[in-house]
Amino acid sequence: MSSAVEGVGIHTGHRCRVELHRSEGPLRFRQGRHEVVADAATVAATPRCTVLGADGVRVAMVEHLLAALRVAGFWHGVLVAVEGPELPIFDGSAGPWREAVAALGPPPPAPAPWRPDTPVVFRHGASRMRLDPGPEHLHASIDFDHPAIGRQRWAGGPARYDDLLDARTFATAAEVSALRAAGGLRGADDGRGIVFGDDGPSTPLRWPDEPVRHKALDALGDLTLLGRPLAGSLSIERGSHAAHVAFMLHLRTHPPPSHAEPSA
Ligand SMILES: [Zn+2]
Repeated sequence: MSSAVEGVGIHTGHRCRVELHRSEGPLRFRQGRHEVVADAATVAATPRCTVLGADGVRVAMVEHLLAALRVAGFWHGVLVAVEGPELPIFDGSAGPWREAVAALGPPPPAPAPWRPDTPVVFRHGASRMRLDPGPEHLHASIDFDHPAIGRQRWAGGPARYDDLLDARTFATAAEVSALRAAGGLRGADDGRGIVFGDDGPSTPLRWPDEPVRHKALDALGDLTLLGRPLAGSLSIERGSHAAHVAFMLHLRTHPPPSHAEPSA
């Protein structure tokens, strides 16, 4: 089973065609003749998105597709063939990826989760993360210096993750100006994400707390790169792609006492 989508990358403005194929083995991306496994250790950069890289392959903006894959239960068993440097932004959400992933059919069994016995506390720049023992639960909070965003919190378990896929990416007008001046956001036309200006959002919000929902979506996508579910209560304050990746690498080098259940 497979599916294909096309769209424009928000940072490069390039058109990109993406095919999703069922394929045994880890989640991975193919570009030309080269492949990169989707893993925290293959993250090459985090310039306002997550970029995977290996010899001969570099794929940007993977986090929204990864979120849709994991919400559907795909922790492995999918090959993503990419023609272009950056996955499409669509409307800024992962909603269109949900449909592409659904065409793959039911996922293979999930790997054993990573289950902490003691709290793990981690800081990275302005980001703070805390993982506590307990059922899987995500708590995200943001604090933006913009009156239309400000402080927002979102919390929920796996049953509510699917909702997050429709939350769109966002930026303040000041950020957009700075990124454009630096030659970026070449694909950022109307309808691709939300811009918060002096008059509020550029498009009606899908939820009053859509920004923090999108940040939770980004975290879900990035944390797919751990390769297994996190069976614990995870709190992320002011998260970032770089912090998510550093946290996963930290977990691997400082595993909690019973960090993984034996496979059945
Ligand atoms: Zn995002």
